[in-house]
Amino acid sequence: MTEKTHRGILVFAEQKDGRIHKVTYELLNKGRTLAESLEVPVYAIALGPKNMEVEELIYRGADEVFYGEEDAFNQPDELLYKENIVALINRIKPEICLFGATTFGRSLAPRVAGSLETGLTADCTELKIDEDGKLIQIRPAFSDNILAHIKTKTYPQMATIRYKEFSEAKRDGQRQGKITKIEAILLENPAVRILKQLQSNEIDISEAEVVVAGGRGLKSSEDFHMLKELAALLGGVVGASRAVVEEDYISSDHQVGYSGNRVKPKLYIACGISGAPQHLAGMREAENIVAINTDPSAPIFNIADVGIVGDLYEVIPMLINKINNQ
Ligand code: FAD
Repeated sequence: MTEKTHRGILVFAEQKDGRIHKVTYELLNKGRTLAESLEVPVYAIALGPKNMEVEELIYRGADEVFYGEEDAFNQPDELLYKENIVALINRIKPEICLFGATTFGRSLAPRVAGSLETGLTADCTELKIDEDGKLIQIRPAFSDNILAHIKTKTYPQMATIRYKEFSEAKRDGQRQGKITKIEAILLENPAVRILKQLQSNEIDISEAEVVVAGGRGLKSSEDFHMLKELAALLGGVVGASRAVVEEDYISSDHQVGYSGNRVKPKLYIACGISGAPQHLAGMREAENIVAINTDPSAPIFNIADVGIVGDLYEVIPMLINKINNQ
């Protein structure tokens, strides 16, 4: 659809075990700003188990929340979610739909856009409204060397937004809004079956405050134990370059970079990582970057706050030892 017959902004409220993902509050914050300049309402859709925090979405800026409560929504089944979201979009016809660029959002949003035959801009870092009331979707391109300004000709205009790019909407417990239960569409054969649940003590890498990441400087997958030990001592998680994920040293959910996770921790320790642009794209916004590399000309040192020219097999045990003896 290329003519504007749509109105309002729809935010997809991602949840896990009924708890709303924080990216949703960031989207609601930006959604409100856009809605105010367009003078339209902000909607949210939440699909999940019973007792989801749907009121929270009103307190954080939604005017109306549509929610579906089914056990099946506990599984991150993109096809199931897509059916339900597409049905709602066809019903309420929002002009803009926003998803978090989380692992799930990145997989779900293109499926929704495909079904609606509309455009989607992935990984946006800013959104604006132009003088004609159209959405300008801004995202880094060419390994973050330029900022592309994109407008889609079709409606709804859809975007995924990077996590931690916008600030969260402030909570107003007095805020009023409408909460509407939707008739959930369920699929007979779920496309997704959970084989392993993340343990509650495992931190999601995109949320972690400390990431200790390993690259091809590691000689084997077993050597990741050393990094895990350091990460555990610092209350963080282990990350990886794509090179070692491809070598099967560690699973892809640890990959940091352009085609992996984007992280913004307080501390990022890059061990044996050269600093290719595709890796930097995922971690350059870390507050403090420490790089350990034997090669003094490795590009990672150009963005490091602290650079250690040395062998990670000597430096990491030294760091572990130092922390243990504090
Ligand atoms: P290398 O570049 O081989 O670097 C290894 C480093 O370890 C070297 O600098 C070396 O000096 C150092 N070293 C060796 N031994 C030691 C030691 N004992 N102690 C300390 N240092 C040591 N890459 C990503 O990481 N994430 C992505 O998401 C990603 N997406 C990509 C998408 C596309 C489309 C493409 C084309 C590429 C992508 N890449 C990505 C790959 C990227 O270009 C690099 O190939 C990759 O990041 C290199 O990984 P590395 O730094 O571990 O390995």
